[in-house]
Amino acid sequence: MNMQDSAVVTAALRPNTGLVWLESPSNPLMKVVDIAEVARKAHAAGAMVLVDNTFCTPVLQRPLDLGADIVLHSTTKYFGGHSDVQSGALILRKHHELHEELDRTRRIMGAVASPFNSWLVLRGIRSLPCRMERHSANGLALANALAANPAIRDVYYPGLTSHAGHAIAKRQMKSFGGMMSIRMKGGRDAALQAASRVKLFLNATSLGGVESLIEHRASSEGPGSTTPDDLLRLSVGLEHPDDLIADLMQALG
Ligand SMILES: *Cc1c(COP(=O)(O)O)cnc(C)c1O
Repeated sequence: MNMQDSAVVTAALRPNTGLVWLESPSNPLMKVVDIAEVARKAHAAGAMVLVDNTFCTPVLQRPLDLGADIVLHSTTKYFGGHSDVQSGALILRKHHELHEELDRTRRIMGAVASPFNSWLVLRGIRSLPCRMERHSANGLALANALAANPAIRDVYYPGLTSHAGHAIAKRQMKSFGGMMSIRMKGGRDAALQAASRVKLFLNATSLGGVESLIEHRASSEGPGSTTPDDLLRLSVGLEHPDDLIADLMQALG
């Protein structure tokens, strides 16, 4: 659903709608949803709002403050930060009606992080604000460089003033993070070729680690993927921005 358009959200709400689930920026098209606006509409219709905040972390975006009821994080990504842990978290406001039920379900069903995984995530959190600052600075530098490259049709990064959701992103995000997607003028072949030419970026499917990753999303998603086949998703890491820019520029030819 195009949740950028709040009229579409309103039209989709039914009397029995219990939960509106959203991502902003979205994966992998980086569409920006006005979280406060969707929360107002959902609440007016008696539905709760969950925001998948994995791309932003609470350092960049705080959905509970914008009116969301539940925040979801894959802590596998930026929280861990080193591509060596799998875990997740749900965050609710204190005394939220769902808290007790979710806590009980977790205990009974056993979806509890192991001590070692918990230790890795806690260790990652200590450097999270510093890392997010650098991911964002690198992301913006790279997005600006890519936007000027003639082989590229589009750069989807909410920090670019040309991005359709930039004004909302600027309001609800502290900075714009390390995730972006690019679309190649030369289509699928050009995208695959660029991904195969990188030397510093790694071809891999996860995100949020210290190392930069590039991924041809449609291939990872497989048959039935709705992702354009000229699209590459980038998780911009903590390397020197000049090295990241130089690597992509040589890969784009
Ligand atoms: C990776 C990811 C998930 C799934 O998390 P896992 O830890 O891999 O189970 C959910 N949402 C977003 C936005 C993600 O990037």
